[in-house]
Amino acid sequence: MLSLKARWIFTGRGDPIRDGVVRVEDDRIVEVQRGRAGQSLRDLGNVAVLPGLINAHTHLELTGIAAPLGRPGIPFVQWIDLVVGRRRAEDYEAADAVRRGLDESSRAGVAAVGDIVQPSSEDPESSISLTRFLELIGPTPLRAAEALERAATCAGAGQGRGANRLGLSPHAPYSAGPELVEGACRLSREHRLPVAFHLAESREEMQLLREGTGPLRELLEQLDAWDPAVQRPGRRPLDYLEMLAVADRALVIHGNYLNDEEIAFVAERRDRMSVVYCPRTHAWFQHDPYPLESMLAAGVSVALGTDSRASTPDLSLLEEMRAVAKRHPRVPPEKIVEMGTLAGAKALGLEAVLGTLEPGNLARLAIIDLPKHKLDDPYGALLAR
Ligand SMILES: [Zn+2]
Repeated sequence: MLSLKARWIFTGRGDPIRDGVVRVEDDRIVEVQRGRAGQSLRDLGNVAVLPGLINAHTHLELTGIAAPLGRPGIPFVQWIDLVVGRRRAEDYEAADAVRRGLDESSRAGVAAVGDIVQPSSEDPESSISLTRFLELIGPTPLRAAEALERAATCAGAGQGRGANRLGLSPHAPYSAGPELVEGACRLSREHRLPVAFHLAESREEMQLLREGTGPLRELLEQLDAWDPAVQRPGRRPLDYLEMLAVADRALVIHGNYLNDEEIAFVAERRDRMSVVYCPRTHAWFQHDPYPLESMLAAGVSVALGTDSRASTPDLSLLEEMRAVAKRHPRVPPEKIVEMGTLAGAKALGLEAVLGTLEPGNLARLAIIDLPKHKLDDPYGALLAR
């Protein structure tokens, strides 16, 4: 039995506990309570203990990129060009980047990661609960069929190594047409796998969906991947949300440009459908203001992700939470903590064991140093930097 005392313990259920003690046995939480004098325990000092943080969306294979690519406000397609260039460089070590990303996440108090991976990549070992979403790219019918076949083989072979879980990620509307998304969602249902899909991320994507024109079309043409039968104009993110609603569990990555109707659609399905907001990545591209307040008011389950190091400076989910506090001052701080913990666990289907510090849950703790001031304001001490 291990007993840990901390200035503040955020259980995720009710107010933070001052001078709280969390007891752990056999890798499970036994109880959380106020400390009493005379208990034998390890005092962690002036720290906050939170449920292990959940990074619901990243691409660890890009951890080898030291800093966000381009400049703030970079047009989306220019950025894609830079990422593809770096990823294709002969000396780029993707497996090494994943290992470093897992180490960095661990140090940042992250307990679970939703990672987008290449179907050919190796399954790493880690203490982090890793959901490996196989990236499926298929802008043409032939490539979509190939991607689906690979996905079906992996899904049929079952879960990944050790604690790693399998998921599917048709990439985005511009790189995966409806057939691929629908096929992936069918596999998701059949094999009970989560699906992650980048949707309503950029103005360029919205233009492509609406009109079939713009920089993303030019990019697809350059790559010889433009198929007018796949990218029929007049589609909306709602059309894709309807496809995702078939999945066993769906993560709508970004959703920067979802409208009220689409937000309501996701909210109605909050038990199986989440949105993943990546605040510092959103800021890097200088998108229109994120509709976080509308989503929360509608009842959407909003999780947080860092996205990759190609668009955010590090893999700290806590810094993403602090970015939310700064950018959305009207969102209650307890909601922000929930987004970085329980909502992320729900998005990945891990809420039975992670996301709160409750008896029976896995003992995954984020231990965060607090400033010496603000001793009476736990949320301020945690989030205001
Ligand atoms: Zn992403």
